[in-house]
Amino acid sequence: MEEDLDEKVKSCAALLISDDLGEFAKGYNELETAFEQPGSEGRERSARLAQELAAFQGGAVLERIFAGAPGCYRYADADKAHNHYGGCCLVSALLTSSKVVVERCLGMIEEGEERRCAQEIYETMSRDALQRARELKRGDDTMAGLFFVVAPLQCLANIARASRVFRDGMQDVLKDHTLFEQLGFFLSAEFLKKLCDSNAYAVRLALSSLAMTLAFSSDTQLWALDKGLLRILASIYEQSPLGQLQDISKRDEFPASRCNLILLRLLESDPATEKLRAHNALSGFRPHRDKISGASPDFDIWGYIEANLMGFSATLEDLSTGQTWTAKSALSGSSVPVVCSWKLCTAGPEPLAGKKFAKCSACKVARYCSKEHQRIHWANHKKHCQAGPVKLPGDQPSQEDEKGKVEQAGNVSGVLEDGVPYGPTLFNGCFGRTWPFED
Ligand SMILES: [Zn+2]
Ligand SMILES: [Zn+2]
Repeated sequence: MEEDLDEKVKSCAALLISDDLGEFAKGYNELETAFEQPGSEGRERSARLAQELAAFQGGAVLERIFAGAPGCYRYADADKAHNHYGGCCLVSALLTSSKVVVERCLGMIEEGEERRCAQEIYETMSRDALQRARELKRGDDTMAGLFFVVAPLQCLANIARASRVFRDGMQDVLKDHTLFEQLGFFLSAEFLKKLCDSNAYAVRLALSSLAMTLAFSSDTQLWALDKGLLRILASIYEQSPLGQLQDISKRDEFPASRCNLILLRLLESDPATEKLRAHNALSGFRPHRDKISGASPDFDIWGYIEANLMGFSATLEDLSTGQTWTAKSALSGSSVPVVCSWKLCTAGPEPLAGKKFAKCSACKVARYCSKEHQRIHWANHKKHCQAGPVKLPGDQPSQEDEKGKVEQAGNVSGVLEDGVPYGPTLFNGCFGRTWPFED
């Protein structure tokens, strides 16, 4: 029998905000199991769980997760602090695959401060991951590498994919540095040889998905090319074992296959193609042509790249359908969709273009395809939508139900603003207020 979503939210939230690290670990396991459900239905269910956890008690779960970040250890005991932070990184890597969660996280400082929040998240996470990657010793890899390097890189890739504001913040932080200066170390042979194979693969995968977002988003495409994107791609090819590419069943997911999609996407744009030429892409990628051709999609990719960069315009035709193949059409998200928060809704994911789902005006997290579903969900959602001790003004179930507190996405009127206990910052100056917890 399918487990009830409301029960799942309750149990996951209780475990994740527990002070007991064993309970916290159980919470992570529950979440991970939920996120492993296959198919579009599984993705919708995990999306719904992530959304409701983000709304939970005015953001209590997210606060707790991000309070485990560097600089704000809640445990005086160093080992406990270390493990809690590691666990928080893993939970964040799962939850940030939801765009709704990311938006909620970026709004954590205060309204209008999302960009500053984005800068802090990018700066703190990338710096901390880099420092820990440099300190990592061969032998303490498996958990440490997963906790402190793989998970933060997945988070960065997730958040960048979900949020334009975050990408703007990244650009602010990287004003005087290149992407390669910041991320290149993760792809160096020196670092990767310290990792077990699966962590090394996960690092390449996370960075290839970050690169993909930057190359596919019009706001960052040309910027990324000037900031060393191509060197990152070249390093990913270089570090991808050729033997691995022979595993046909998983070829589409390979980091090298993603790099191929990136190059193909860039070649669809004239200004980007110009930049590829200006950055000597042809000679830079030639040493990797075997891997480029060995990864998917199944075309003579290197021949196509070479021809285009040399000024012959070539197209990729799908041999089976005769249609011109485009990189954009091949882009499939690995993130969970934005869904209507009512568990029995069958409306499917929010459409990428057109009318967005409405937001609950109190938490600004829950999403609804219709007023009707918002009304039905309110009976349960009102228990999560507000911080525990804070009573919403006029919170009487019958009246609230009638009110139908639906707000269109994007319209952020300050309804109930006083009732939402926010004001902390994320990560860096982490949570400006004092935490009531002692070890
Ligand atoms: Zn709400
Ligand atoms: Zn619905």
